[in-house]
Amino acid sequence: MEEGIVIYSADLTLPIASPPISDGAVAVRGSRVLFAGKRPDVIDDLKAMGLAYTERRFGGIIAPGLVNAHTHLQYTGMGALGSFVHKDFHEWALAFNDVYEPLVKASNPPWRDWALDGARRLIESGTAAAADVVTNPEAADALSSSGLDGLAYWEVINETNEDWADCKRSESEHRILGHIASFPRIPGAGISPHAPYSLDKLPLLELPGIARRNRLRLHMHLLESPMEKEMDDPCRQYRDWHSFKAKDFSLMRLGGNGESSLRYADRLGLLGPDCHIAHGVYATKDDLEILRKRGTSTALCPRSNFIAGLDEPPVALYLSEGNPIAIGTDSLSSSPSLDLMDDVAALSALAKKQGYGSVDLPRRLLAAATLGGAAALGRASGEGRIGCLCPGALAHLAFFNISAGRGESGVNEALSELAESGGGKCACTIIGGEIKYQAENTWL
Ligand SMILES: [Zn+2]
Repeated sequence: MEEGIVIYSADLTLPIASPPISDGAVAVRGSRVLFAGKRPDVIDDLKAMGLAYTERRFGGIIAPGLVNAHTHLQYTGMGALGSFVHKDFHEWALAFNDVYEPLVKASNPPWRDWALDGARRLIESGTAAAADVVTNPEAADALSSSGLDGLAYWEVINETNEDWADCKRSESEHRILGHIASFPRIPGAGISPHAPYSLDKLPLLELPGIARRNRLRLHMHLLESPMEKEMDDPCRQYRDWHSFKAKDFSLMRLGGNGESSLRYADRLGLLGPDCHIAHGVYATKDDLEILRKRGTSTALCPRSNFIAGLDEPPVALYLSEGNPIAIGTDSLSSSPSLDLMDDVAALSALAKKQGYGSVDLPRRLLAAATLGGAAALGRASGEGRIGCLCPGALAHLAFFNISAGRGESGVNEALSELAESGGGKCACTIIGGEIKYQAENTWL
């Protein structure tokens, strides 16, 4: 049976994988994009193919559904923590644990309700897919139950060498895979080894292998805190992590070992095109070169860094060096909203402040929030392609209330407005061809 075709047309359509289209349209058949183009061309082509269609007209911008490349939906109820700027990361972490620890022990923890609330907020702000880090199993089905695409990453944190030595090794692997087996199969799962300062070396050595043997993607926090950066005055005897036998993360907590946590993670084989990292605040030019060589994307989360008392991510350096980037909101425990466009705006302001003067800034940041996120999740190609409006991609669409004038200047102005102040302007979100959210009076 032929599925009905819907044309979504607007002032401006952003396929991302091809140039912006004034008076554009995207034709959707079932769950997939058929093709996008100038509205009259799309209509002519459908007629030439003998295909019937209905049309929905929108007075704004159509973009691919956003991809939030780093969040923890289960912490959506911790908004009080994310509503003010903390003195430093240590103070933020203490405040976080003061809220988290009692809840873990509670008989009826709120994780699932909070995660579902977070998922709703994502959808209402134009997000179609997310990398959701799950620390407590109650929150595992938030993406699936909300109809969001993406990956739920099971977080592994505070595990020691003893947990992974000899006889306990297979037990630990079994425990992790048991949790992931209980996740909904759709949209998919991965493993998130939290960070090099919260895991000993043995689990960090084992987890990539477990992920790769089980076709799971990897995601970790890296270079988020100052203690992870390369030290000017390294403690030489601990320079080689591989020869250091004690609890490595305790050393990191004491002030680092001379090399960056990224270089350490790289030595352990954690990085690669099947892994993306969150934050990368303290990355040097050398760190960025390693990330490029390994094909590893970085999810920048500028508002979270600000709230958690950290420095700003060097987005201008990421852009000028040509590193693959994505964008994440992180959770409401360190961010004022789950609207990814607010982080796009924050990055736009930071990039300019840091001296990135190229006119391509809005396009590059909008690509990071869509196709860049797809690449981070391993979804930028093939049958599961998302983050763009190209033929055959899954029909994830976001509609923004920003009107666009004709011609090159009209397009550029609209792109700047979307990148600089797109937060709160989502009118409709379509995931896999289905309308998941729509404001009143969306269609003309
Ligand atoms: Zn995080």
